Formats: sequence, C-alpha cells, structure tokens
Amino acid sequence: MEYDTITAISTPMGEGAIAIVRISGDEALAISDKIYRGPKGKSLSEVESHTIHYGHLVDPRTGETVEEVMVSIMKGPKTFTREDVVEINCHGGLVSVNRVLQLVLSQGARLAEPGEFTKRAFLNGRIDLSQAEAVMDLIRAKTDRAMNVALSQMDGRLSKLIRKLRQEILETLAQVEVNIDYPEYDDVEEMTHRLFMDKAQYVRKEIEKLLQTSQQGKILREGLSTVIIGRPNVGKSSLLNSLVHENKAIVTDIPGTTRDVIEEYVNVRGVPLRLLDTAGIRETEDIVERIGVERSRAVLKEADLILLVLNYSDDLTPEDEMLFEAVKGMDVIVIVNKTDLPKKIKLEDVEELAGNGKVVTTSLLEDKGVNELEEAISSLFFEGNIEAGDMTYVSNSRHIALLGQAKQAVEDAILAIEAGTPVDLVQIDFTRTWELLGEIIGDSVHESLIDQLFSQFCLGK
Ligand code: GDP
Ligand code: ZN
Repeated sequence: MEYDTITAISTPMGEGAIAIVRISGDEALAISDKIYRGPKGKSLSEVESHTIHYGHLVDPRTGETVEEVMVSIMKGPKTFTREDVVEINCHGGLVSVNRVLQLVLSQGARLAEPGEFTKRAFLNGRIDLSQAEAVMDLIRAKTDRAMNVALSQMDGRLSKLIRKLRQEILETLAQVEVNIDYPEYDDVEEMTHRLFMDKAQYVRKEIEKLLQTSQQGKILREGLSTVIIGRPNVGKSSLLNSLVHENKAIVTDIPGTTRDVIEEYVNVRGVPLRLLDTAGIRETEDIVERIGVERSRAVLKEADLILLVLNYSDDLTPEDEMLFEAVKGMDVIVIVNKTDLPKKIKLEDVEELAGNGKVVTTSLLEDKGVNELEEAISSLFFEGNIEAGDMTYVSNSRHIALLGQAKQAVEDAILAIEAGTPVDLVQIDFTRTWELLGEIIGDSVHESLIDQLFSQFCLGK
C-alpha cells in the first residue's frame, strides 16, 4: 500500500534541548533533500539507511538558512512505519521547531494526525491492531501520570531554577569586581573570600538537590527496565501476565530510544516498568545455564530492576543460588510464588540470599501478594508520592552530566577559597560553574552543544 507523506513534531512541546520533526512516506527523502544542505553537498537520497547527518535547513523559496540540524535517515521497511522515515533533530523551543515543521509542510508533506505514525505502522503490517491501540494508550498513560510530572515540570521549572542560580553567581562575581576595583575596607581579600564561600556553599547545595532527583527523573522519563528471572515453572509468565493485567500492558516503539524494538510497559503505581522484549531479556528461563554467570551478569546489568521468582513449594536449588549470584549488587525483588501449595522452601535462607533485596510472597494463582509486590517496586525507587506534582525532576542525561560538572567546579572553588588561593583564581572556578549551568539551558553554548550532540550520535553510527 502507498500512502501520502506525513510529518509532525514528535517530541514533547517545550524548552527541551532538541526537538524532532518526523517525516514518513514515499516522499520523505525527496522532501528532505529539497531543504537539506549538508557540509559536502551530499544528497540524503543517496546516504545509507539508518545514518545521521549534520547540516542546515534552507528554505528553497528564499534561500534563507532556517536551522542547524541533524537528520536521521531510515529507509523502509526496517522502520517503525515500514515507510521511509526521516527525523530532523533541531533545537528545542517552539519557534525553531515550528519553523522546521512549516518548511517540511511547504514542500509537500501533510501534517500527521495524532497517532497517525502508529496507524501507519499498523496499516503497513508492522504491528497488529492491539499493539497500535496500546501505543496510543502508552502515550496517554505516560502523559497522564508519571510522564506528565517529569516533562511539564522539568521543562519549565528546571530552567527557572538554573537561571536563578546563574543570576546569583553573576551578582557575586560582579560584587567581587566592585570590591577589587573600589576597596572600601583594608581586608578586601578576606571579604571577598567570605562572599564567595557563602555563595559557593549555597550553589553546591542547590545543585545537589537537583542531582538527587535525577534517578527518579530518569525512571519517570524512560521507564525502569525490568527483567523477570527464575527457573522454569516458578511462575514468571504468570507474574508478567498479572502485572500486565492489573496495570494495562502497553506495547510501543519509543521514539528516540531503541528503534525497532518493541517494548512492553506496565504502570506500577506511577512507576513505568519497561519490560524489554529482546530475546533472553524479558523472561530468561535458563539464561544462567545457557551462557554462564559472568555473561548473564553482563546481560542483566542493562536492567534497572530484577524480579527473581522462586517456588514456595520447592527446595532452593543450586540454579536458584546461581541466579542470586548473577544479580548480586543489583536492585532485586525476590518473589516467592505458589504460597497456596505446601511450603517447602526455607524463607530464612531466601532472606539471607536476598541480602538487602526485598522478599515478597505471592500466590499468583489466587491473585495474592501482588499488591505487596507493587508496593515493594514503587517504594524501592520512590519514597512518598511521586505524583505530588511539585517536584522538579532532572531526567535528561545531558543535564545530569552538566550538573555533575558544575558541582565539581563549585567544589573546586570551595577548595580554592579554603586554601586561600588568590581571588582571580577563585573567580575562574566560579565563572566555570556559571558557564556549565548555562549549558543546561542552552545559553551561549551553541557550538559546544551541537558538537556534543553530534559526537553522541556518531558513536551509534
Ligand atoms: P514460568 O515457566 O516461570 O514462566 O511459569 P508459568 O508462569 O508458566 O507457570 C508455571 C505453572 O505454574 C503454570 O501451570 C501456572 O499456572 C502455575 N502457577 C503459577 N503461579 C502459581 C501459583 O501461585 N500457585 C500455583 N499453585 N500454581 C501457579
Ligand atoms: Zn514462562
């Protein structure tokens, strides 16, 4: 079947660092070629599939450069819609992303309706109808619940917080300049050090507070990748079904993450669990036996959460112990299932093997213990109510990295002050903190931001 070429902004609206305009259909490449100017004049129709290209968008009607972009080329049928797909990564912010969208529309694409990419995937046989419906459910579920908190909050509030911190740093730097230029007191050096110290400690504390939200923020945004492991017949599939049944399973292809991998989501009390549907990951009947403890550890390391299932009505076996060994040091919840059957397992031994991991007993057959399990999952990652709505979550890994660097810079400043270092050197650390915070909101860092994103993309090429 052939359909017309559609386009839409496929990232959430707001002040993110980048935004994506997605184009799908037979004309996707031709339309892109009309507006894209690459560094070496190459044509997007000729490039290899599943590659990313740096360049500029130019309005062919006026010759005006509209945006600096990265363009992902994915030729059908190995795409989410099975059609040719082009994704234009441009700067976040309503104005720039809308300009890109308008440009694409002016060259013959049609504005996609809500869910139309998914509909295409369905129409072209990429996913079945229940999957298609599920994708839309996911978009809604995540928006209504955790995603809502993460996205709407982060986009506005984080920037505001960062701006405030930067303003305070700037004022301190200015104050210090004044002190140096017009010393009112004899002890300028001491005054200045004290001024810096107060502000540095304040800034460090604020950055730390933000960093503390990052684990939760990432989970809210990306979901908690979860693996269910256990010996054959302990109840892994039953557990999956039960979680799915209670929490509405959702199958989707998340834009911007693992392309062409179908993932299953369950929403456990606002915590999105992402059950990766990759061979050997979602349900590993015999992964440890098959590939050994070391290699299965490497596979399992990708997961944020391990659900390890045991049989209440059976002795612990060496296989069970191998599983514990394989997930040592990870976030594990142990589920002792089939409590409706006669008890054989020694719970003290399970507790000991589990260490810090929580142990929950269930009878999935009788639908018992599932609430306790859900409670254990949500309290493992979130204390209190995550839907409170007045938190600022940092969830973007670039932001997290920059906050880490800014914290380092402010700590350098603190050490320098403590060591009695000359003021101009302290100023350097302070200025650096200011700059790093600025990169988070995209102030004055056009080039380095682009470089950074570019180098990230090239890695996966
Ligand atoms: P898996 O091989 O680990 O995926 O285990 P399954 O979920 O396929 O379950 C294996 C068998 O155990 C099935 O016949 C289930 O109906 C049964 N089962 C699962 N949970 C329970 C339970 O809590 N109690 C009892 N008695 N049987 C269960
Ligand atoms: Zn199974």
